[in-house]
Amino acid sequence: METWSMSKMISPMVQQIPPSGIRKFFSLAEGNKDIISLGVGEPDFVTPEHVRAACVRALEQGKTSYTSNAGLIELREEIANYLYNGFQVKYEPSNEVLVTVGGSEAIDLALRALISPEDEIIVPVPSYIAYAPIAQLNGGKVIEVETFAEDHFKLTAEALKAVITPHSKVLILNYPNNPTGAIMTYEEWLPVAKVVEENNIIVISDEIYAELTYDAKHVSFASLPGMRDRTLLISGFSKAFAMTGWRIGYACGHPELIAAMLKIHQYTVMCAPIIGQVAAIESLRNGLEEKDRMIEAYAQRRRMFVKGLREIGLPCHEPLGAFYAFPSIAHTGLTSDAFAQKLLFDASVATVPGHVFGLGGEGFIRCSYASSVSRLNEALERMDRCLRAAGMSGK
Ligand code: PMP
Repeated sequence: METWSMSKMISPMVQQIPPSGIRKFFSLAEGNKDIISLGVGEPDFVTPEHVRAACVRALEQGKTSYTSNAGLIELREEIANYLYNGFQVKYEPSNEVLVTVGGSEAIDLALRALISPEDEIIVPVPSYIAYAPIAQLNGGKVIEVETFAEDHFKLTAEALKAVITPHSKVLILNYPNNPTGAIMTYEEWLPVAKVVEENNIIVISDEIYAELTYDAKHVSFASLPGMRDRTLLISGFSKAFAMTGWRIGYACGHPELIAAMLKIHQYTVMCAPIIGQVAAIESLRNGLEEKDRMIEAYAQRRRMFVKGLREIGLPCHEPLGAFYAFPSIAHTGLTSDAFAQKLLFDASVATVPGHVFGLGGEGFIRCSYASSVSRLNEALERMDRCLRAAGMSGK
């Protein structure tokens, strides 16, 4: 009889997906208190006081139950209003909006609801690291479309067209982009939308950084002519409202797709946490000014940090959205992994090596500037000293 081993029990599908490259890198930094982390994609702001107070009140009133599976109707109504006022996309709260456990659950549900084995899932890269593993877990084949710093990491219709096959089914868009900070304008979207329409593609548009744009307004893919019904818009409260730990996100789209996702959501998580939903309602009703103040702070940090990177000799394309800078480290001759390790061990600055974000990420590092100006300045000084000591200053 074969000997028993747990590793043989784990599904091969799960075994084949790599652990998160970001988390793996951070275990190296654990325990070192002196480290300045530009690694995690998380606001340094605490959720505003009035939001926390609204939750304390709700708890005191005994609000500790499940909610309806799709989320509190008041929250779905507030989300629909917010998207309409901010991004000119209109959704019916009763059947086109689903409240999820972070944008993360919405991505998972969408891919589970859409993918059949052999379907091709197109992902412009560098991109957020969760899409490919979840698509693969569902038997999908991930097709990466490389984007380039010279093009400000924008997706072009030509590059998209070049990877379309009869198996192409889903296109996952993430603008403003993590990790590059790239955005797309209305004029740049139109030819992409044409390719989507001509090839009957479904779009999952992860717009979790929609509010975080600088010098240009975000254009929701769902707001483009003819795109609303073939686009699932995903967003959430983690980034713009500084609410990562509350775990509230949402998906909006065609009622049949939302119903399919709701079916999975009912069996797997039942509903998003009620307290997070109460917090999200408070944020949308009374937290818009505070959100704008946080965005203004990111705008200021972005200007000083990107300028600082260039001054220490790290070329950096202008990130127009999210809260990441994605400087090139190509001139050092090191891989992004070796360079990020060097910064971690020699300068006590944690960044993320670009290769974890897919094709086109090698030669870059991701630095989050959701940190105080003084910490960002200190990080720049440390990086400068480290580069000069290694004779790698590109100045
Ligand atoms: N999409 C993108 C592009 C992200 O960067 C993140 C968080 N890093 C998420 C989705 C998930 O966020 P959450 O689950 O906290 O809403």
